[in-house]
Amino acid sequence: MSAPNSPSSDDDAAIAVPVAEPVAAFPTLSKIWDDQYCEKCDVGGSAGWKCLRCGESFKPVHHTRAVAHFAKIPAQGVQVCSAQIPELEYKRYVDLWTVTRKRKTEIKMVSMTITEDKEERLETASKRLFDESNKKPKIPSEMQQYLRSAGLSNSPTKRGGQPAIDTAFENMVQTNITHMNHAKMDMAVASFFHESNIPFNVVGSSSFKLMLSYARLVGKDYKPPNRNSLGTTLLDINHKNCIEHNQENLCREADVFGLSWLSDGATIGRMPLINVLGLCADSPPTCVAIEDCSGHMSAGGRKDARYIAELMEGIIEPYDPDKSRSTLFWFDGASNVQKAGKILEAKFPRSYTLHGGEHVVALFFSDIAKIFEIKVRYYVCLMSYASYYSHFV
Ligand SMILES: [Zn+2]
Repeated sequence: MSAPNSPSSDDDAAIAVPVAEPVAAFPTLSKIWDDQYCEKCDVGGSAGWKCLRCGESFKPVHHTRAVAHFAKIPAQGVQVCSAQIPELEYKRYVDLWTVTRKRKTEIKMVSMTITEDKEERLETASKRLFDESNKKPKIPSEMQQYLRSAGLSNSPTKRGGQPAIDTAFENMVQTNITHMNHAKMDMAVASFFHESNIPFNVVGSSSFKLMLSYARLVGKDYKPPNRNSLGTTLLDINHKNCIEHNQENLCREADVFGLSWLSDGATIGRMPLINVLGLCADSPPTCVAIEDCSGHMSAGGRKDARYIAELMEGIIEPYDPDKSRSTLFWFDGASNVQKAGKILEAKFPRSYTLHGGEHVVALFFSDIAKIFEIKVRYYVCLMSYASYYSHFV
C-alpha cells in the first residue's frame, strides 16, 4: 500500500483536488492592502485602515503593523486579530509577514552599510579639513609658557611659573581633539547640505542655529523624528502654531487701523487655488489661507463671485467676527473677483474694494514686453546674464 500523500495513488489524487483549489483561489499576497479583508478608510478624521474580519479600525496606515495584525504577531505595536481565520488564508498572512520582515531586515542592513560608508568618508574628509586648518600648527598657551620658561622661546616668561610638562601635552592633545570634533561637525553639516541639495544660505537660518543649539542639550537616548511624524503630527502642530501666531500679530492693532485683504486665484499643477493675504498697520502682509478649490470645481462649481465671496467671508470670520474691522479688499481686475468685492462690501459695511495696484503695473509691463524691440533687448540681456553666471556654476 502506498503512502497517504503519494501522488501515484488514485484515491489520494482524488483527495488532493479539494486541497489544491483553495490555494489557487488565494494567490500570494504582495501587499496587505490587496487583501479583501483589509480596507483603507478614514478613522477619526485621519487616514487609517479596517480589518473586516474582526471589525477593528486602526490608524495610521502602516503596512507592517497591518500584516502583524492579520498574521497575529504579538508586540508589533498593533492589536492582533481576534477573528478565526481559515488555515489557508492565515498562511498567506504568515508568508507575507516573513517577506515583510526579510525586506525590513534587508533595508536596515543597507541603511547600516550606507551609514558606515558615510562615517568612513566623513572621517577622511574631516581629517583633510583638520589638516587644511592646521597648516600652521597652533601651540597651546601652556606649551608656549613651558617653552618660554625652558628658555626655548624668545618671549618673556609670564608670571605663574612652569607648568608640568604632562599638563602641557595633555592640553595640546585636548585642543587637537576639540579641533578634530569641530572639523567633523563642519563636514557633517556640509555633507548634509550637499547631499540633500539644500541651498547654502539656509545655513544662516535662525531655525538651523536653534536646532544645533538644542542638539547640544539632548542625550544619546534622543531619536530624531521620522518621515511619518514630520509629515503629520509635527506638521500639524507647526501649522496650527503658525496660524495662531500670525492671527495674533495681524489683529494686534486691527481695532484701530482696520484690516486689509489681498486675494488672487491661480492654477498651479492643475490645482485651482485661491490665496488670501491679510494686512494691518504695522504687520507685514501675512498669508492667511491658500484654499484648494478642486472639490468645488470637480462638483461642477465655478470660481464665480458668489463662491469667492463666501470663501473669503469664511476665511476672514475668525479675524473679524463682528465684521467691523475689515476696511479694504484688494483684488485684480477680473470681473468675478470685482463682483465678489461688491458682495463683500455689503457684508462688511465699513469696507470698499480696489483693483490690485501692483497687478495692474505687472500687466502694463507684460504688455510692453511684447513689443518686438523690447523683446529682442530682453533676450540679449537674458543671454548675457546666462553666459556671465555660467562661469561661476
Ligand atoms: Zn482583525
